[in-house]
Amino acid sequence: MTRTESPEDAKRALSELVAKFDASLVDDVRPRVLQLIPIHRALRRLGVSYFPDASDGAARDRILQYFQRYPQTVINGKELMIVAGIQEWARRLRELRVEFGWKIMSGKMLAELSAESAKAGEPEPPPFPGVKPTDYVLVDKVQDKETATRWREANSIRKRKDLAVADRILALLKLNVGKQVTGEELRNVAGPREWTRRVRELRTDYGWPISTKPTGRPDLPIGVYVLESLNQAPEHDRKIPDPVRRKVLLRDGHKCSRCGWSHGSWNASDPRNLEVHHVEHHAQGGSNLEENLLTLCNICHDEEHRLHRRR
Ligand SMILES: [Zn+2]
Ligand SMILES: [Zn+2]
Repeated sequence: MTRTESPEDAKRALSELVAKFDASLVDDVRPRVLQLIPIHRALRRLGVSYFPDASDGAARDRILQYFQRYPQTVINGKELMIVAGIQEWARRLRELRVEFGWKIMSGKMLAELSAESAKAGEPEPPPFPGVKPTDYVLVDKVQDKETATRWREANSIRKRKDLAVADRILALLKLNVGKQVTGEELRNVAGPREWTRRVRELRTDYGWPISTKPTGRPDLPIGVYVLESLNQAPEHDRKIPDPVRRKVLLRDGHKCSRCGWSHGSWNASDPRNLEVHHVEHHAQGGSNLEENLLTLCNICHDEEHRLHRRR
């Protein structure tokens, strides 16, 4: 609160933002929201309670509108509190993510992703550098109507303590072949500590075709995973480190080197995916260097292996 502002003025400023939120969105409302954060804090220090007359649904709508106004942008939880105008903003945010299927990624999850790619020596900078655990990002403008069902699946898989972490991740992905599953959902079944490493191992060591934006599907939002099919890569095409896989896919333009298929031409009656093949088979001493690797669609890849066996 500036010295000239009385608590009454401050309350009015906060209420006005909430009351005329639709109109504010036309302008760049974010600077105002950021300005109101310290004002709100000052009010609370004074013991003034500030709650405009807002229904939960309206608060939820405003949070969503705010994210949609600033997609792909790191938004702090404090901004959402101002926008929501209610104490329970975190619960409304959770509903948007878990029940309504908006791909709002948490700073926690994004930081874990960045830490994992740094460990793997991936050359590109993290997509949202400096993201804090209290931040959130809407990574996709498309709502996923199946989210609520999947969170229920995830919750029951999470309770399966007989399954190892990697198996819990795989169980959720297998129930959703070809569909977008968020890192938040995988994290939910696997726990916060090792889910990124386990996903990577499922792809590189076990050959499960799990695509992400940097590993084969530039069309996917950040933090989203797709198990492309139930077929594991042949033994000799495993153990390709992700940074190498990414370079090969980039070099080949994310297209099959044989028939030119790419994800842009995906359709349900011919659900293909891209795989990385060892020209000289790994088992026979072929290396994991780019020169020895080739992007193929799974159809051409199968064909390649059939020919190889016949030779
Ligand atoms: Zn092909
Ligand atoms: Zn192969």
